[in-house]
Amino acid sequence: MTKDPVCGMEIDEKTAEFSTVKNGKKYYFCSENCYNKFNKK
Ligand SMILES: [Zn+2]
Repeated sequence: MTKDPVCGMEIDEKTAEFSTVKNGKKYYFCSENCYNKFNKK
């Protein structure tokens, strides 16, 4: 398990639909909304 960096929700990497790689680290998101917020910063 990992954490959504936007809202802090726990995410299962195996079922996560939204993810991105930044500075060589992979991040997972609970929703498209959190994904978009993270990528706007
Ligand atoms: Zn989230």
